Amino acid sequence: MQSYEDAEPIVRIRDLKKDRVNFVLENVDLAFANSIRRVVIADIPTVAIDMVEIHSNTTVLPDEFIAHRLGMIPLTSANCDEAIRYTRDCSCLSGCKYCAIELRLDVVCNDNRTMEVTSNHLEVVEFTQDVSVDQILQEGEEITKRGESFGFPVGKNDPSVPPVLICKIRKGQELRLRCVAKKGIAKEHAKWSPCSAVSFEYDPYNKLRHTTYWIETDERAEWPVGENAKEEEPPRDDEAFDFNAKPGKFYIEVETDGSLGPQEVMMKGLAELQTKLANLILGLKAPSELSGGDSGANGTTGVWAPPGAAQWSDTSASGAGYASPAGGGWGAGSWGGNSSPAQNNGGNTTGWGTTPAPNSGGNASWGGTSPAQNTWGGSTSPSSGAGSNTGGWGAQQGWGSPTQQANGWNL
Ligand SMILES: [Zn+2]
Repeated sequence: MQSYEDAEPIVRIRDLKKDRVNFVLENVDLAFANSIRRVVIADIPTVAIDMVEIHSNTTVLPDEFIAHRLGMIPLTSANCDEAIRYTRDCSCLSGCKYCAIELRLDVVCNDNRTMEVTSNHLEVVEFTQDVSVDQILQEGEEITKRGESFGFPVGKNDPSVPPVLICKIRKGQELRLRCVAKKGIAKEHAKWSPCSAVSFEYDPYNKLRHTTYWIETDERAEWPVGENAKEEEPPRDDEAFDFNAKPGKFYIEVETDGSLGPQEVMMKGLAELQTKLANLILGLKAPSELSGGDSGANGTTGVWAPPGAAQWSDTSASGAGYASPAGGGWGAGSWGGNSSPAQNNGGNTTGWGTTPAPNSGGNASWGGTSPAQNTWGGSTSPSSGAGSNTGGWGAQQGWGSPTQQANGWNL
């Protein structure tokens, strides 16, 4: 039998709908199939509400509760790569029309019946630039690349899609607020994930014995096989266990929350995986092997494009948080000095760190309650060079003293 190493990968789409795709992936390694699953869950940029300014809230729900619910509403994010910048890559200080979308909610109940405030009440408006700060805006093409419903709550103006309930109000209650949506990825916060569910199965008969079933008396009676078993040969009772066998056929279903279509999710996922591997290859090269001397100084070009692609990975064991592996590869570039959560603070250190940071805790790089100003001082391009980027993180997250800032909640 031909092994998958010799054969071309095969994709067979079994079902494709507006918000989901079901396909069979063959002739690839288990690690590759799993990488696709992880990348579509966590690494594809979308836009989501990241800051909420409550102007009036006389509902029964507290401000934070509503702010959190708003953050979770999926917003249409097609062509996010070109249509919006990360605020951390933008020349503005805390948000502008190129890196943020503004939404308003203004609802009052004048009726005796309970009224439902839903995502359909959110209106996208032109971004209100903070004129009190002198900002130099770097013009861009982003706005022309947006579809007409870019940044709108998914399903707005589409009666076939039920809206997302935000809260219920009664007569005399009102909810008025301003939201700023930003671009981000789900490694930073799950609200940016384009996927609501990604399922993944292989070896439905458990021939490889990767699973140990808990049983009372009879394994086959207690663990009926699923639909995907129809795709494979059932094992014979006299068949010996093949301890060299590897899985080569994977049944994947990707369901999106509507912010992106399934096709865009898969294509971007593959591109992202390629970029990660390119970064890894580059990172493993000795500096002398690198032609042109680009050692990762620039977070916005070439293979460095996706911010944090490499830097986010689980390096918690290193103790120093995001200590970057040696030179050349994983420079401070992408994260040094700007990541969306803290951007909102505009130098103010008391914001709510939105985003639980990746799993590295309790070390110097996170502790900072008094962030170094130089990290945040400017929102210019990331500092260059390889080496440790721990300074950047320490300053950014605002874990130190979360307090509400000027009536705004960073989600
Ligand atoms: Zn901006």
